[in-house]
Amino acid sequence: MRFPLALYSSLTAFFMRNLLQGRRRFPLVLMLEPTHRCNLACAGCDRIRLHNHAQSEDLTLDECIAAVKESGAPVVTVTGGEPMLYPHLKTLVGELMEMKRHVYLCTNGLLAEPFIEEFTPQPRLTLNFHLDGLEITHDGIANKPGTFKKAIENIGKAKGKGFRVSTNTSVYKNSDLTELEKLFQTLTDLGVDGTLISPAFSYESVGDDIFLSREEAVEKFREMKDFFGRFPFLNSPLYVDFLKGERSMRCTPWGNPTRNPLGWKSPCYLITDRYYPSFNEMMEKTDWERYGTGADPRCRNCMVHSGYEATSMRCAFSSPRDLLRLLVWNLKKN
Ligand code: SF4
Repeated sequence: MRFPLALYSSLTAFFMRNLLQGRRRFPLVLMLEPTHRCNLACAGCDRIRLHNHAQSEDLTLDECIAAVKESGAPVVTVTGGEPMLYPHLKTLVGELMEMKRHVYLCTNGLLAEPFIEEFTPQPRLTLNFHLDGLEITHDGIANKPGTFKKAIENIGKAKGKGFRVSTNTSVYKNSDLTELEKLFQTLTDLGVDGTLISPAFSYESVGDDIFLSREEAVEKFREMKDFFGRFPFLNSPLYVDFLKGERSMRCTPWGNPTRNPLGWKSPCYLITDRYYPSFNEMMEKTDWERYGTGADPRCRNCMVHSGYEATSMRCAFSSPRDLLRLLVWNLKKN
C-alpha cells in the first residue's frame, strides 16, 4: 500500500466531516516550520534567505502544538529550515503522535542520526529526506560536499531501524532525467516507502534562472511518464495528469497552510503577502479569489504539490471515477 490505511482513513473521515459541516475551505496538511535556521543554503530555497533577512526566532513548543490544534489538519509536515536543529523536536513529534496526527518530518539528512537513534519508529511517522539528484548535482544544489552521501547513509539507517521513509525531489530547469531515473532506482533499491516529485517553485527571493516555466515542466514530466509506473511515487495519479498537461487544475492554497515563526502565512506555502496572528484570521481575511493561475502573475508557473495535491482530493470527492482511481492506486506500491 502506498499510504498507510490509517492515513487514508483519517484524511477521508476529516474530508467527509468538513463537507457535512458545509465548510468550503479547510486544511488537510499543516506545514509547520518551527525554525527557519538551516545548516545548508540550498539553491532553490527561500526560507534561508527569509531567515537571514528577518532573523526569525524559533516557535516555542506550545506555539507548535497550538498551531496543530488551531488548524485541525490530520497531517502535519514538520519542515523549516532544518527541523533537526529545533531543540524540542523529539518532544514535538512525540506529542503529535499522542494527538494521533500523521507526521512527515522533513530533513536534508545531515543531522538526522541522533533522531533515528533515539526515537522509536511509529506507523504514523514518516522521515522525509530531500534529494535533488545524484551526488555531484545534489551537493552542488545544497552547496555542501558530502550532503548526498550522508543523506543516503541516514536513509539506510532509518530503514534499518524500521522507520517509514520517503523522499522529496524538486525538478529544476537543468535536472537531467537519466540522472533522476538513477536516483529513483537507488532510492527504490534502498527500500524507501515512497518518493515525491514536483517542479521547484520560482520564489521571488531566489534570483537565479533555475526554475521551469509551466510549459517546460509539462514537457519534462511527459518525458518522465514511465517513471510513475516503475518507482513508488507518492504523487497522486490525478496530480500526475496535471503535471503531464493532461488535466487542468486550480490550486487549493488553503489545503496546506503554513505556520512559521512569523505567523500564519497568506496565501500559501509559496507566496507570502502577509502574516496573520491566528489560523482563523488567515482563513477569513485572505482574499482567495485573488490567487491561482490566471489571477496572480506569480502563480503563472506554479505546479507544486503543496498547492495541487489538495485539489486532487477535492476532485476525488466530487467524482466517483477519480475516487476509485485514487483508491486503486493507493493499493498498489507503484
Ligand atoms: S498557484 Fe499561486 S496561490 Fe496557488 S499554490 Fe501556487 S503560488 Fe500559491
